[in-house]
Amino acid sequence: MSRTTPTDGSRNKYPEPATGKNERLFNHCRNNATGTGRRPARCGPIVHAAAHPVYPMTESGMIGIDLGGTDIKAGLVDAQLNITAQVTLPTQAATGPDGVVERIVAIIEELRGLPQATAAAVGIGTPGPLSPTRGIVYRSANLPGWRDVPLRDNVARRVGMPVTIDNDANVAAYGEYRADPEIRNLVLLTLGTGVGAGAVVDGRILHGQHENASEWGHMIVHPGGIPCKCGQRGCLEMYASASNIAKRTAQQIRAGAESSLDDPDSISGRDVADAAKSGDALANKVWDEACHALAIACINIQHALNPQRVLLGGGMGNAGEFLLDAVRRHYRAMHWNLCDDLPEIRLAILGNNAGIIGAAAMARDLINSTAQG
Ligand SMILES: [Zn+2]
Repeated sequence: MSRTTPTDGSRNKYPEPATGKNERLFNHCRNNATGTGRRPARCGPIVHAAAHPVYPMTESGMIGIDLGGTDIKAGLVDAQLNITAQVTLPTQAATGPDGVVERIVAIIEELRGLPQATAAAVGIGTPGPLSPTRGIVYRSANLPGWRDVPLRDNVARRVGMPVTIDNDANVAAYGEYRADPEIRNLVLLTLGTGVGAGAVVDGRILHGQHENASEWGHMIVHPGGIPCKCGQRGCLEMYASASNIAKRTAQQIRAGAESSLDDPDSISGRDVADAAKSGDALANKVWDEACHALAIACINIQHALNPQRVLLGGGMGNAGEFLLDAVRRHYRAMHWNLCDDLPEIRLAILGNNAGIIGAAAMARDLINSTAQG
């Protein structure tokens, strides 16, 4: 009924505290990202006792679930956050919340049934808005018919295990945070259909008073700019999502702009990136405007949260250094900071597995917090 794939755990290895066997994986990120190149000048470094615990209290495994509008991706994850098996099922969102919960339960049972499988808790990342505290999904643009669904308790009752839920972008940010023990404060921007975002501040997911924090995609970067479906104008998402760079390029071609991209009906964000790399003037203009908007966002985030890193992921993240170079260039041209305690702007490292690993890490926290009483 599904695709169950034993995975090579070393690809998702939770790093050792010293420069252990996983150093190479994370060196890739470190070597590719030099931040702004500036060193802290007037402010001394803040030395935290430990960014976060490296060794878990529990030796039990967890199940991490990344619930999306198209697919439910799930993984059996060991105590060191290695994915040991993965399952993907179509969400069949049209079946409504009851049907989707049935499929989540089926995935959990399939993973628990694998030889040597141990799972003590389940973490779920889901589109929101939602309340992690109450375990309720209020609504979701990607999940039709969802209205105040008690997802956490519905799943927990069926599988007899503790369950925790959070916003999918928060969960991905938490996965990136847990993948690097050097990090204590980070923001993740995923540049895909929209701009998803999550923040980890002082080792905890940032939720805010109404648990809707980190809507960085709707940060206004151009007052009076392009109208957004949220009702504002000039939101980051309108300039820096993969979908919107494609849409803006297509609009300008239809209006008569010259471009090597001659079919405005089939342009993707990747097409724009590739054309920009090849020197297409229109694609370069749109791409550069996206990177300028991202640099504004990074500066605003820097002043709001003082993160150690701002990570860029999602479809546009696949452009790699081509994306980073432009964002960093605009960032350096615009930023002003009293302390030079600037965040490093880097690429996200976990890719499509961030949601599973982050959800499993939340489940592990749940077990540990229960054990601590
Ligand atoms: Zn908006």
